[in-house]
Amino acid sequence: MSYELDSLPYDYDALEPHISEQVLRWHHDTHHQGYVNGWNGAEESLAENRESHDFSDSAGAIRSVTHNSSGHILHDLFWQNMSPEGGDQPEGELADRIEEDFGSYEAWEGEFSAAASDASGWALLVYDTFSNQLRNVAVDDHDKGAIWGGHPILACDVWEHSYYYDYGPARGDFVENFFDVVDWSEPSARFDQAVSLFE
Ligand code: MN
Repeated sequence: MSYELDSLPYDYDALEPHISEQVLRWHHDTHHQGYVNGWNGAEESLAENRESHDFSDSAGAIRSVTHNSSGHILHDLFWQNMSPEGGDQPEGELADRIEEDFGSYEAWEGEFSAAASDASGWALLVYDTFSNQLRNVAVDDHDKGAIWGGHPILACDVWEHSYYYDYGPARGDFVENFFDVVDWSEPSARFDQAVSLFE
């Protein structure tokens, strides 16, 4: 099987002024496409090596699958958890669990922002299926610092390609603006699904 890049779920200029049309074009069409291509290429190498029983470059291909598949999955999440109708706070089960596990939405947001300011990759809200609780995690690249059993619910891309053209070094301003385009309907549905799978 091979993986394909889906179109953005909104127009390229839909998130302006928070994220510019130019950044979304580069980010989706070039960077995200690169991860999809990288994943497919690495899977092909693995398949060829299994066929030929020559595993001399399989370790590199395995690492490439991890890097590129994680990049693809997180970018999909990132596009889907934003929309021009965003900016509200979560509702329903997810809102209740955020209060239960972080104390309040504000405490969650402050902690998530701290992760976003520190990560060399992503800030993620994950549902930790091992300990049955929500956690914020700071991920370098697309996978370093990930937690086993952590099912991603909300993603914020803090790679420089995500914000530098619009915000320069002011990453904190980007993260603040990110909350104005977070559309919680998608993370809420994702949380409900994760809980039903693992409880
Ligand atoms: Mn990115």
